[in-house]
Amino acid sequence: MAKKKPPFNQEMAIRGANRRLFARSPFVVEKLEESRQEFPRYKKDGTLAKKPWVKRQCEVCSAWVGSTKIAIDHIDPVVPPNGFPASFDMWDRITMFLKRLWCDKSNLQRICDDCHDKKTNAERIERLKIKYTQELDTLEQQIQFAKKDIKRHGAASDGYKNWIKYINKYLAKKKTSGLEEIVERALRLKQEILELKSSFDK
Ligand SMILES: [Zn+2]
Repeated sequence: MAKKKPPFNQEMAIRGANRRLFARSPFVVEKLEESRQEFPRYKKDGTLAKKPWVKRQCEVCSAWVGSTKIAIDHIDPVVPPNGFPASFDMWDRITMFLKRLWCDKSNLQRICDDCHDKKTNAERIERLKIKYTQELDTLEQQIQFAKKDIKRHGAASDGYKNWIKYINKYLAKKKTSGLEEIVERALRLKQEILELKSSFDK
């Protein structure tokens, strides 16, 4: 069976078209041309090849790498680390996206594939951290309410059953480097939920 085509997403289409346009723009070409060095290339038999090896320098680790292993990166990422403001509609988001994409040259850097992977991963972890912190803030609030309920009425709803399931999502991240604080916090909250549970069960 053929894969179902995802529905057309106007916002993503506009973003994608602009990213492609930007990648071919003079800003990117100039930035790449700023650092260009030819290195001798040897053939398999050890003799010098006619065409030299063109390499460019990564501005993060200073390594010289082949043209296919380097990209132009936005130092301050195009999509803000904590996402677009919730109050934004599609056109607000697109406007902000375009301004950040077509940024000042000082926000651009050449980056090798290795450094790019590391940076992308660090940004992903940072976004998760922000998201999980907000989610755990909400859960912690609910736990505090439940504690008050128990004090007042001697009982609370049995929402804790879902909380345990919910908290396991964060505990599953214990092997992800950079999320240690989130996992520790989740462990503390789980302990609190278990303590609540024993008072529910009385
Ligand atoms: Zn690098």
